[in-house]
Amino acid sequence: MSTAKCPSCASSDVGVLDSQRAVCGYCSKVNRRVFQFCCDCQREWPRDASSTSACMLPDCALRAALLSDTKISDPFSSARGCPFFRACPKCKALLTHNGKGCPNITCPHCHTYFCFRCLSRRCIGLMDFDIDYHIDYFPQRGPLRHGHDISICRVVDNSLNF
Ligand SMILES: [Zn+2]
Ligand SMILES: [Zn+2]
Ligand SMILES: [Zn+2]
Ligand SMILES: [Zn+2]
Repeated sequence: MSTAKCPSCASSDVGVLDSQRAVCGYCSKVNRRVFQFCCDCQREWPRDASSTSACMLPDCALRAALLSDTKISDPFSSARGCPFFRACPKCKALLTHNGKGCPNITCPHCHTYFCFRCLSRRCIGLMDFDIDYHIDYFPQRGPLRHGHDISICRVVDNSLNF
């Protein structure tokens, strides 16, 4: 059992009820109703759930993997610093990066080409330091406008999509 943490107040002072289910005393008091949550996918346990031991929320295992703190630490990997697992933006397949080549990968299930870092399907690998370089060396061209001219490749939190 991993250390359970309340997704609402971030307290670890929670009562574990089952293998996945826990209750937060603080949030129960504040909300004036029992606040239970899934320790794995970090969402509120549905109040009308028929099952009390297994989480029935969609994509529970997928979200749990995406929330894991494990990051790619290989200094030679182009995806260094990224979470170990990413979900394909199209078919939600759970994927890993083999560390070789550029951060872009092709999903083996639906053949979607996307960036392991920023999850964009049109990433050209422009990093923050490229923008600094541009401003330092081409000031007469004016600043690059994020989201308009270019999209900057930043590691994004994949679990927010689910
Ligand atoms: Zn709480
Ligand atoms: Zn769950
Ligand atoms: Zn896919
Ligand atoms: Zn990218």
